[in-house]
Amino acid sequence: MKIPLVRLDREYERYAKQYSDKALEILASGVYVSGSHLAGFEQEFAAYLGVPFCAGVNSGLDALAFAVKALGIHAGDEVIVPANTYIATVMAISQNGALPVLVEPDAYFNIDAALIESKITPRTKAIMAVHLYGQGANLTKIKEIATAHSLWLIEDCAQSHGAQVEGKMTGSWGEAACFSFYPTKGLGAFGDGGAVVCHDPSLHASIKSMSNYGSTQKYQHDFVGYNSRLDEIQAGFLRVKLAHLEASIEERRALAQCYLQGIDHPLVLLPKVRPGCDSVWHLFAVLVESRDIFRQYLAEKGIETGMHYPVPPHLSKAYAYLGYKKGDFPITERYADQVVTLPLFQGMTPSEIDAVIEAVNGYTAP
Ligand SMILES: *Cc1c(COP(=O)(O)O)cnc(C)c1O
Repeated sequence: MKIPLVRLDREYERYAKQYSDKALEILASGVYVSGSHLAGFEQEFAAYLGVPFCAGVNSGLDALAFAVKALGIHAGDEVIVPANTYIATVMAISQNGALPVLVEPDAYFNIDAALIESKITPRTKAIMAVHLYGQGANLTKIKEIATAHSLWLIEDCAQSHGAQVEGKMTGSWGEAACFSFYPTKGLGAFGDGGAVVCHDPSLHASIKSMSNYGSTQKYQHDFVGYNSRLDEIQAGFLRVKLAHLEASIEERRALAQCYLQGIDHPLVLLPKVRPGCDSVWHLFAVLVESRDIFRQYLAEKGIETGMHYPVPPHLSKAYAYLGYKKGDFPITERYADQVVTLPLFQGMTPSEIDAVIEAVNGYTAP
């Protein structure tokens, strides 16, 4: 049996007719950019999250970079960000000329809230919280710190569509929250896409205009903007998918529970869920010391695994200029060395999940 890390076709097939009907409807409408489907999706996604505003953009990275820029963060400013994240989070800060200030993760892979305050300086403008692998960061504590120090809270929800912290949606806590609709994400388009949600009407207007050449009115350009829009076809597909999101989350939770209950191996460290959080299991990440041997063993059994992520931002070539070296963020580096993501996707069958559990439990260390 071949089991890939992710398969997007299985869920697509369930709703194939809805997607093709939507595509044909939009093709026949003659409106392909900035039409009623974008507006409709923005409204529906904001309502789902319980926030007043949503602006569709081209990608999760643009969403993050626009949020940083629209909050007035620029060269000379510092933004606190988890060291253990996908590099896009950090790039959104440095694209704006600001300095990313990295903070080690806690036992749940997210930023360790207890370490944030020691990193705050007079130049700090914001805290960027990432909800990695589908589980909310310690938002209660982070929000408290942000408020106490008058810092913006920006959420990177690229992996946490529908996840809650203390019964409140991730994406509804910060001044701005950024989503990716990259195909593999919890709410995935059939191409690239992203969105910024927020509570403040002028922040929303600024991001909408930023994504459209700095323009709100045809022929009028208030500042040098970008072309980063969520097109009609993607917005239309996302509307179809949003209606099934809760069902997808339930399915992923059930699959994750199978792993949590079925995997029992002293060398395979299972992920933990923070009390008050309810992971949507964007990724099921375990820690294994001899990671490469473990992955090779599973590969020989036909099971594909991933690594999210093997090179942390501070050790990436892109950030060589920050002058970090190996050993500067030992917890992040340990995660990067040991993390393995197991197959988890909508439509995964009981026999596939059992095969992974059996293979993992049968692993014998070298
Ligand atoms: C995917 C991802 C992004 C970037 O989203 P894109 O749509 O690929 O630009 C940012 N942050 C995190 C945590 C992600 O997983």
